[in-house]
Amino acid sequence: MKSIAILGSTGSIGTQTLEVVREQKDIEVTAVAAGSNIELLERQIREFKPGIAAVWEEEKARQLRGKVRDCPVKVYSGMDGLLAAATAKEAETVVAAVVGMIGIRPVMAAIKAGKDIALANKETLVAAGHLIMPLVKEKGVSLLPVDSEHSAIFQSLNGEQRESLEKVILTASGGPFRTWTKAQMETIQPEDALKHPNWKMGSKITIDSATMVNKGLEVMEAKWLFDVELEQIQVLVHPQSVIHSMVQYQDGAVIAQLGVPDMKLPIQYALYYPHRRPMSAKRLDFGMLGQMTFEAPDFERFYGLQLAFEAAKAGGSMPAVYNAANEAAVQKFLNGSLAFLQIPEVISMSMEAHTVIKNPGLEQVMETEAAVREWIESRW
Ligand code: NDP
Ligand code: MG
Repeated sequence: MKSIAILGSTGSIGTQTLEVVREQKDIEVTAVAAGSNIELLERQIREFKPGIAAVWEEEKARQLRGKVRDCPVKVYSGMDGLLAAATAKEAETVVAAVVGMIGIRPVMAAIKAGKDIALANKETLVAAGHLIMPLVKEKGVSLLPVDSEHSAIFQSLNGEQRESLEKVILTASGGPFRTWTKAQMETIQPEDALKHPNWKMGSKITIDSATMVNKGLEVMEAKWLFDVELEQIQVLVHPQSVIHSMVQYQDGAVIAQLGVPDMKLPIQYALYYPHRRPMSAKRLDFGMLGQMTFEAPDFERFYGLQLAFEAAKAGGSMPAVYNAANEAAVQKFLNGSLAFLQIPEVISMSMEAHTVIKNPGLEQVMETEAAVREWIESRW
């Protein structure tokens, strides 16, 4: 039996992780954590019998304790709850699937406790990769990508020598507004942006895909995961999302991983690496597919992607500013107080207003996030 803890068990990645657990039958779930969805959390506790459950809101945690009185589970709340789930004694692997920078502390605590990490929560690596990667090395744990592009790169690196890598090619669907003009994009409403052509995901990452900020975050995620220079990362729009990403070697050979868009594959691969397990998902049908197309990203209409390269180049605390500003702007777009095209504008202005801190510690990263959020709150 393998044992795992899932941070964000009620979300899109969390529930698909549990589908893998159901199908494979040899994974034990020792801890689950969520924000506020206690109805689903209760069902998960009854089905998977974790010893620890965490709910962000204390009042919800109290209600959950009442609901699961008959189960042998301890219910915690707040950051203490996330930390308890992340360091649950029995878990070998922590699936980091909360959304946003809230994942930084629990992921670092899990690594310190010697856990392997299956990482979906890219915001954590973007904002604190300089703290997380050395810690992974120091503790000798594995940090395995769940993000489909990074899983594809990881799979394409199997058996090759790292010195021969020339570049990584991150594919992007381009999102629902790939072919829209700037004028059309002025009118985008949350319900338009919440419709992703190829993937069904949580609302924050769906908006990030529509602005292509998601690809920007993934550029920084790739930089940390694969220890490559910014200049070695190319973003390529591929609307069919069949090639999940590629690696180019110094002899010109390109190796890619392809498949139907289904997050269960990268989740399962991260949980069982280096083994492949059977999976009952749909198979790629090249005859039906007909063709695959590619185009360069439009950095002008999708300015948020351009800004990611700038944030990565500035380094230090700037990626945390990029990420925090995006998190705040997406929230405001979803609640109707910001227009779609203002999202990159808010990120850009937040970056301009910031003086880079070189090599910031954890507290400085968290302070930077709070300061950016406050600055945005006072302006929009
Ligand atoms: P969802 O919004 O679907 O799920 C987020 C999860 O985090 C939920 O379980 C939510 O609980 C929980 N959560 C939110 N806030 C807190 C908190 N303060 N404390 C504890 N738990 C909290 O997001 P996704 O599953 O789509 O995405 C999760 C991460 O994975 C993101 O970083 C995303 O970028 C990344 N990712 C997602 C992909 C996808 O296909 N969905 C693909 C690649 C990466 P509750 O339900 O109670 O709100
Ligand atoms: Mg991705």
